[in-house]
Amino acid sequence: MPLSKGGSRTLLRALRAVLSGADAHPSVVEVNGHQAPAPNGQDRLDQVVRLVASNMVAEVCSIYLKRDDNTLELCATEGLRKDAVHTSRLRVGQGLVGRIAQRAAPFATEDAQNAPGFRYLPETGEEIYKSFVGVPIQRLGEVMGVLVVQNRVSRQYNDEEIEALEIVAMVIAEMAEAGAFRGSDGIVSGPRRRSGPALCTGTAASDGIAEGTVHLHEPRLVVFNPIAEDVASEHGRLADALSMMRGDIDALVEGGGLGDAAKHRDIFEAYRMFAHDKGWTNRLREAIDGGLSAEVAVEKVQSSVRARMERVTDPYLRERLHDLDDLANRLLRYLVDPEQKGMELPADAILVARNIGPGELIDHADQIKAVVLEEGSLSSHAAIVARALNLPMVVQAERVTRDANAGDRMIVDGDGGRVHLRPESSVLDAFRAKIALMDQEREIYLGLRQRPARTLDGHTLRLRMNAGILADLPSLRQSGAEGVGLFRTELQFMIRGHLPGRDAQSSLYSRILDAAGDNEVVFRTLDIGSDKILPFMRREEEPNPALGWRAIRVGLDRPRLFRMQLQSLIRGAKGRSLSIMFPMVTEADEYHAAREMLMAEVERLAKLGYARPARLRLGAMLETPSLAFAPESFFRSVDFISVGGNDLMQFFFAADRENERVRRRYDMLNLSFLDMLSMVVDRCDAAGTSLSYCGEAAGRRVEALALAAIGFRELSMRPASIGPVKRMLLSADLAKARAAIEAARMGGASSARENLVQVLLDTVHAAQ
Ligand code: PEP
Ligand code: MG
Repeated sequence: MPLSKGGSRTLLRALRAVLSGADAHPSVVEVNGHQAPAPNGQDRLDQVVRLVASNMVAEVCSIYLKRDDNTLELCATEGLRKDAVHTSRLRVGQGLVGRIAQRAAPFATEDAQNAPGFRYLPETGEEIYKSFVGVPIQRLGEVMGVLVVQNRVSRQYNDEEIEALEIVAMVIAEMAEAGAFRGSDGIVSGPRRRSGPALCTGTAASDGIAEGTVHLHEPRLVVFNPIAEDVASEHGRLADALSMMRGDIDALVEGGGLGDAAKHRDIFEAYRMFAHDKGWTNRLREAIDGGLSAEVAVEKVQSSVRARMERVTDPYLRERLHDLDDLANRLLRYLVDPEQKGMELPADAILVARNIGPGELIDHADQIKAVVLEEGSLSSHAAIVARALNLPMVVQAERVTRDANAGDRMIVDGDGGRVHLRPESSVLDAFRAKIALMDQEREIYLGLRQRPARTLDGHTLRLRMNAGILADLPSLRQSGAEGVGLFRTELQFMIRGHLPGRDAQSSLYSRILDAAGDNEVVFRTLDIGSDKILPFMRREEEPNPALGWRAIRVGLDRPRLFRMQLQSLIRGAKGRSLSIMFPMVTEADEYHAAREMLMAEVERLAKLGYARPARLRLGAMLETPSLAFAPESFFRSVDFISVGGNDLMQFFFAADRENERVRRRYDMLNLSFLDMLSMVVDRCDAAGTSLSYCGEAAGRRVEALALAAIGFRELSMRPASIGPVKRMLLSADLAKARAAIEAARMGGASSARENLVQVLLDTVHAAQ
């Protein structure tokens, strides 16, 4: 088979004539200077297989395309029986063709019938062909089909021939994407177009429901001229784009762009190394030599990186492949939009991405209604930011970047973890009704903002909000929260990608106090480790990070960072009252040590002329069962205790809060758990110490009712939960709730949930 790199260029030139005009679907095209009727999709496919067969001196060339995720159909052939076209089908993974699609990798053999996995398709008449070579037709890691060449005699296909075939397959993939193989008669001769309603299931990462227009963070390029008209000029375009991209990355690393993260230059150096990597650049150049345009050359190399990414499980390697994928995306942006003007967002944009960093999300936050990620996780930094900003978010949404087109209608159900693409009118109507109801409820909650959360039997609770970034603070007024019960200071560290210096930190704390006005803000000192990883800190591998070196343990062992934060808090207070609590205190001594360090800093700064806080309130987070059993003196020595129920539950039930398999297995309303909480209430009452609950459960109605019933008088929660919880409390009778818990206990139940839900339902019915 005399196909070489130069040969593939000749073939591509011939293909260009076949494919021209595919974008606009004109009725005529120019062929050799003459006007000729434009071929429809099937004709184009037929011409492609004829051209490939003749250029490769092969008896057979066939194109199999995916009809659905699992089925490949013979869509065109030169050499096999014509009546098998559109009738002969294979499952992905079945036969040599199915295996190529499954593995997204080429395969060649000189003896097809005896190759492992061979499956004979009698309707095609292929039994007389001995040698076989097939390559995946793929775009950005998505396999759309398989291109196959067969020869009657037994022969070996060399690497150069396979590479040439891959280049042709790449062009076929691009043209399929551009719609070149759609039939004018309505028969789709190409892969499925992304049209019609689709449902993507994922994981709910931030609740709320939104309807809007898809904005693809990394837009899928539709390349209408995948074949290089002039190889030299494509090389030039690639070189320009590479040098612009490298220049920007170099400037970031060498200039001031990294800020404090410059200390962690090695991470950025690795990225820069990839941008200059010769192997990567050579592969790009080779693809252009094969006859591809610069964009498609980048996509070709990116496709193989993505295919590898799907197979690699090692986290380090995956991370590096992600870097390469990210670089390819950047490079494409420089090629398509050399001036880097960026894309405009539609008015009601829903951001759809494979993944996104927290900084980028913040940059887009006020222009978008929701976020959908194909990857990401509940504990990813982007998810933390989305929750803080009240943006509905679904993560792990299968195939969403492939199935969504820019401009599509989309509903994001951040409660159920589902995404409805191009929804039918009945689905749209149902969600619109739900959104309208939620808007109505929001109006009601707004009306309750000034009302104290007093129960029917006369108990008043203080409802505060959890926050973590400055952008949270406007929610104080909108939600009617009586202060911030938990300010997670580490979020600011996590989302910025660099360690804020003392001045930056103290100015941030100062601005937070300014924004809170007379409301108290309880700052929690850095809670890092376990799921909260600072991008710029070297991560110590630990066998069990949730039980490892984290929170106050890091603060006490690495006092430099901890002291810097304490100083920043004192300076930021500028003489105002300051409330601080320490995370995951496990025994009393840890609290005393942290408190001593803080007091020493107050004195040291006072000597330097900084104002002492007018009033210092110091507390500990109770997140480990051991602290519930701390000595009496501990309960008397703290100003307040805040129960971090998320962690307390994970340690009480020995169930990792990050592990989806066990996360929901145990109920917060489990009676043993409630008993431990009751004991903490009693011990705080006896010591005259204030007590609050700031885990996620405080924001859920049934759980909040249980906490109020056992004696909690302060709850801190997401701002969006304050209205619903307050409305519930206004019509609650805590004596009834206590009786319901008692009845569950007497009945031998594990959890009080069923009884408490009934109490709430009875309350609703009574109000109707
Ligand atoms: C908790 O553990 O309940 C808590 C409030 O802290 P975080 O969720 O930040 O660990
Ligand atoms: Mg915690």
